Amino acid sequence: MKLVRYGPAGAERPGLIDPDGVLRSLEGRVRDIHGPALREDALDRIRSIRPGSLPAVKEEARLGAPVGGVGKIVCIGLNYIDHAREAGREPPEEPIAFFKPGTSLSGPNDPIVLLRGSRHTDWEVELAVAIGKRAKYVDEADALDHVAGYCVANDVSERKFQAKGTGQWILGKSGDTYCPLGPWLVTADDVPDPQDLRLWLDVNGRRMQDGATADMIFGVAHLIHFISRFMTLEPGDLICTGTPAGVGLGRTPRTFLGAGDEVRLGIDGLGEQRCAIIGPEEG
Ligand code: ZN
Repeated sequence: MKLVRYGPAGAERPGLIDPDGVLRSLEGRVRDIHGPALREDALDRIRSIRPGSLPAVKEEARLGAPVGGVGKIVCIGLNYIDHAREAGREPPEEPIAFFKPGTSLSGPNDPIVLLRGSRHTDWEVELAVAIGKRAKYVDEADALDHVAGYCVANDVSERKFQAKGTGQWILGKSGDTYCPLGPWLVTADDVPDPQDLRLWLDVNGRRMQDGATADMIFGVAHLIHFISRFMTLEPGDLICTGTPAGVGLGRTPRTFLGAGDEVRLGIDGLGEQRCAIIGPEEG
């Protein structure tokens, strides 16, 4: 099942994409595609609705981030060996975690608005995991039972702010629109193996990243187990699981995004994003 949120930014409505690719409204069935709607019983209720009985959305609707009311976005750094190497780092012995704020989320085709003073804005295609069941001290063997679904994320990163001063990653990864999410949330029952997905990213039509989730150092189940030792994961929380090789920082010469560029990225079965890069908001 492909769940979406559509409509103007900040006023998105819940919907789904039916098997024929038609956007249908879930208004009146669920309040939002958010934590309470991602619990197993709530997803079963949505699944039991015949898609043809839901009204088709006629207008050309903007898609928003497919999960609303996100409590936290836990991100994992250097989770692919080739990416750790291109960043000049040794592969980590345990997961490196940081946060992105909810305000960084944007729709899969919304523009990415550069931060003022940015110079080295980079791309990172990532598999995002949406939690559907509270997770605290979860065993790795049970961890995937806590997943509601998966989607595409771009962990947009301003390397100048990430590396500058005390090197606080969070400052370079937190701008508004620095976490385009979607187009859809694909429920876990339609993703038989999250470690068997191809993920790719193009800048201006040129392939920059072409990886496989099989190459993660720490897989999704281990990440949920690991993170849940330190914090409770709630329904509607997200985990961004790290990016494969091919970021701008790792290229020779180094290549970064500027106004006028376009980024396209996708993951097998989880759809595609297409985002224009635009300059900072005027002061
Ligand atoms: Zn990342």
